[in-house]
Amino acid sequence: MSISFEQNSPSYVRDFKVPRKLDIQNALGKLDDNNINSVFTEEFYETFDSLPLPKKETDWLAQYVEKGQTYTEFLQLSRTLHTKSSYHRKVIYLTLFGQIDNTIFDIDSLMDYTQRFFQMEVKLINPFINVKWNDEKNQWICTMSLNNGKNRNFNLRTRYNEETKHSQICVTGILNLLKKVVPDDARCLIALSMCDLYGDDTDLFIAGLAMGNCRVATFSLYRYDPYLTFNESDWFSCKLKSATESEKQIAKRRNLLLLRACRLLTHEICHLFGIAHCIYYSCLVNGSGDLEEDFGQPLLECPVDLRKLYSLINFNICTRYEQLLTFFKMHDFLDEIKMVETKLNIIKHSPEPNSSNSSMLTKIVKRKRANKINTKNDAFLTAATVPEDEEVSETSAKHTKCH
Ligand SMILES: [Zn+2]
Ligand SMILES: [Zn+2]
Repeated sequence: MSISFEQNSPSYVRDFKVPRKLDIQNALGKLDDNNINSVFTEEFYETFDSLPLPKKETDWLAQYVEKGQTYTEFLQLSRTLHTKSSYHRKVIYLTLFGQIDNTIFDIDSLMDYTQRFFQMEVKLINPFINVKWNDEKNQWICTMSLNNGKNRNFNLRTRYNEETKHSQICVTGILNLLKKVVPDDARCLIALSMCDLYGDDTDLFIAGLAMGNCRVATFSLYRYDPYLTFNESDWFSCKLKSATESEKQIAKRRNLLLLRACRLLTHEICHLFGIAHCIYYSCLVNGSGDLEEDFGQPLLECPVDLRKLYSLINFNICTRYEQLLTFFKMHDFLDEIKMVETKLNIIKHSPEPNSSNSSMLTKIVKRKRANKINTKNDAFLTAATVPEDEEVSETSAKHTKCH
């Protein structure tokens, strides 16, 4: 599929129902917590942009019907994903898969951001000792340290193009390796890579894949490098701008890659936590059909998804925003600084919560089957419906596929 730019914006895909104000209120649910009530004022809602109309036919909502996920539906699903037996799983683990060039990819800052965003502990582990290219086999091979203390070599399913010498690694192979080493206290284990990934033969590439029921996911930042240009029809046709550049240019590239990585990783972890694509506002958890749409989306979640995260993690909303603001200032994320400052200003000057509203408790309807919440191509859905030892064959990352 090639991207075409039309004079008139395409509309949402047929059968998609644009949420009305009442739908958004229903999605938020009855506010039953003083901490939430004191933040979720009319002025606070006004700091969020409405859901944008698709600009081109590859945009997510021009392609897929999303039904949205209300707060109540999230709570229902959440009970199946976050049970008493998983209560001790409080750590987000990250790992690096393959070579990472520290001059362009800032893993420390990405970890710092993830910790501030989710208000959870984030740890880096290194089960992958080596990921190297085998010239004779034209294949990627990985050496891994297993939980029994032994090292083992694994051949990774690879596709390779003789002409351009470009290669891609099949994503399911990496997920199966991650399953072998996921720590018991891990809420999730995510491998980040600069290797280019694919899922099946028709893919141009995939940004990644999550296997939520096994708490593992992998994402590639290869296509997120601002210096990369690629052909929309040939997976093997990629060009990296030559790297003779000033320190200022290197810093700019590294900062932009960091911003993109922050958005990708937090979006995907939201999915691993059970949050489906959002249709209520312009939001971090909106689906994106291609990189251009992805890059235009905000780094923060809307009130509906903020409420979901709050209910799961129980953080202080104001403290979290303050910590995110510090991060945005450290990295000159100018749009985000403005966005958070506006919200903080309103939160800090809002009146006491409305007592009549706070007395209205949320009524949780009886739990439906998890797989009835039908959000196509979503990571957590695969999680809820695929048996643990079965390979996930469907792409579940932020971008379905860019063919
Ligand atoms: Zn949202
Ligand atoms: Zn997504």
